[in-house]
Amino acid sequence: MDGKQVTLKSFIKTIRHFFPSFWGWVKSIPDPRNCQKITYPLESLIITGLLLFILRLGSRRQIKFELSSDILIQNLEKVFPYQAEKIPHGDTLNYLLSGVDPENISNLRTLMIRRLLRAKCFAPYRLLDRHYLIAIDGTGHVSFSKKHCDQCLQKKLKNGEIIYYHPVLEAKLILPFGMALSLDTEFMENTNPLASKQDSELKAGYRLLARIKSKFPQLKICLGLDSLFANQQIMEIAENYHWKYIINFKAGSIPTVAQEFNALLPLEPQNRLTFSQKDVRQDYQWVTEIDHEGHLVNVLSCHEIKEKQEPKDFVWLTNLNLTSKNCFIIANEGGRKRWKIENEGFNTQKNGGFNLEHAYSTNVFAVKNFYLLLQIAHILIQLMEYGILGKKRIKKLYGSAKNVAHRLMEELKFTLLDDLTLKWLDKRIRIYFDTS
Ligand SMILES: [Zn+2]
Repeated sequence: MDGKQVTLKSFIKTIRHFFPSFWGWVKSIPDPRNCQKITYPLESLIITGLLLFILRLGSRRQIKFELSSDILIQNLEKVFPYQAEKIPHGDTLNYLLSGVDPENISNLRTLMIRRLLRAKCFAPYRLLDRHYLIAIDGTGHVSFSKKHCDQCLQKKLKNGEIIYYHPVLEAKLILPFGMALSLDTEFMENTNPLASKQDSELKAGYRLLARIKSKFPQLKICLGLDSLFANQQIMEIAENYHWKYIINFKAGSIPTVAQEFNALLPLEPQNRLTFSQKDVRQDYQWVTEIDHEGHLVNVLSCHEIKEKQEPKDFVWLTNLNLTSKNCFIIANEGGRKRWKIENEGFNTQKNGGFNLEHAYSTNVFAVKNFYLLLQIAHILIQLMEYGILGKKRIKKLYGSAKNVAHRLMEELKFTLLDDLTLKWLDKRIRIYFDTS
């Protein structure tokens, strides 16, 4: 790829390369609008919604100020299969998203993830060459000082104030070299007005896992879970679905398992391994087949000593077989990679310019749809960053991923794509992931 319009070319190539059917999928989203009054095609509104996040505009009113450029409109028309004379206003986008069932935008994401999995893009990066690591974790999304809808969760703050909020539970596909791709989302909300308890991460977790199984029935999954999920029901779900799990384990979660682990450790001295490298030393110990209410679980602990740092202790519950050959991988490529959902996932989406906690809308459908478009945009960005652009090149040429977004905006707005570039975009090339 030559030095001209590199980020723009990378962006378009990423969509075309990984998702050749992308526009067909977008077209199949049912349009809720009165067809006699439509000014903007659905595709033009969806690409505007994605650009809102890809270009890190931060709020929907910025669309009007940042994207109203004749060159940008012409560029989009040259590479995407739709005609639109203008860039839609942020309110027009909000109007559309208020009428689209979020299930449809979520399905667009499912089709994208399925395509990546079918193309075996991530097969070389599976845990123990077999399982896709899917981390599940909750995070805050939008919150309001006044009751916003009947489904709001509410809590009393220390100062007595009540806030109304909508958290989400995310399932992200974690790749060991740093990607965290949104696989599915469960919105936590109170749907039963007669229920005595509010919705919770655990309840949302059960709904989320059932949906993942129905959407990806054949996928070999290893769940990466927080200690909140260390319970019998999760063990049963994993057994029924033929999934593996690695759960952060706190003694208080299941005291009987913790007691048995401590009692059996001295009796099994062969289940030990020390790993040392440069300034790190890790001592592993494990006990297999501890019975918990009819489910056999394995427990792995790791005591880590790093130069100039406080020692750290980790304990995991797992149904993966533990041996001296795999405990290092299960701990470092599995259990400890779970935090990537927090870092590469939520932190980037909150503080990396995507503005995850900003209320892009107050409409109940649109709030979710903006969230889902953010997730889809983040999938595209990560594929571009780790794929055709490469993390190393981004650091050298642009300094940061945020700067890539600025450059992309400039290239979209100020330089018209020429015939030579368009020809290059039609060429098939191989894309490798920069896993360094
Ligand atoms: Zn609400």
